[in-house]
Amino acid sequence: MVVKKRCTFCGKQFQAHTTKTRFCSHSCNQKDYKLRAKEKRLKENVVSRKETTIPYRDLLEIAKCKAYLEIKDCALLLNVSQSTINRLIRSGELAHFRITSRVLIRQVDLEEYCKNKLVKSNVNTKSIKNSSDETISFNKEDYYYMSEVPKYYNVSAKSVERHIKSKGIEKIKMGRFNYVLKSEIKRIFGAPSKTILND
Ligand SMILES: [Zn+2]
Repeated sequence: MVVKKRCTFCGKQFQAHTTKTRFCSHSCNQKDYKLRAKEKRLKENVVSRKETTIPYRDLLEIAKCKAYLEIKDCALLLNVSQSTINRLIRSGELAHFRITSRVLIRQVDLEEYCKNKLVKSNVNTKSIKNSSDETISFNKEDYYYMSEVPKYYNVSAKSVERHIKSKGIEKIKMGRFNYVLKSEIKRIFGAPSKTILND
């Protein structure tokens, strides 16, 4: 059997022996194969580059423009991990809705959440004077009671006193209580050995 066909690669007419033959020669067949392999490689490259190298800045700008945010957008905007956002969603602190299995958060609800947090921390923050008579803003959440430190760090009260004195860490006295900055304590003792709520 002889069939007149046009070569898929070079376009020349040729006599094929089966209806399935697409190329005039072995050489055209090979060239076509190589070309398609190259095209495929290029395509894959473009796709993976798209996935991996959208700059952080651009992602942030995109997230800012969205009315409906995904979890990853919220994480980006608040600069926290996605699992933190997931936790806020599970606990009901951050309003959300679902479309099929996708979780979406309205931009306004994210802002509402932040606004509520802001009001809360304002209530806790006071302006006080430290020992050098400078006015500092005091937010209880940033401080330990002195008496809490031994508990959380598994050290004696004496040792805490000694460290605080030698490192020149300031105790803030408010009413009957002495407070020390959590960040300063962490700098000395590392991570607390017990989990502290709200921290
Ligand atoms: Zn050909």
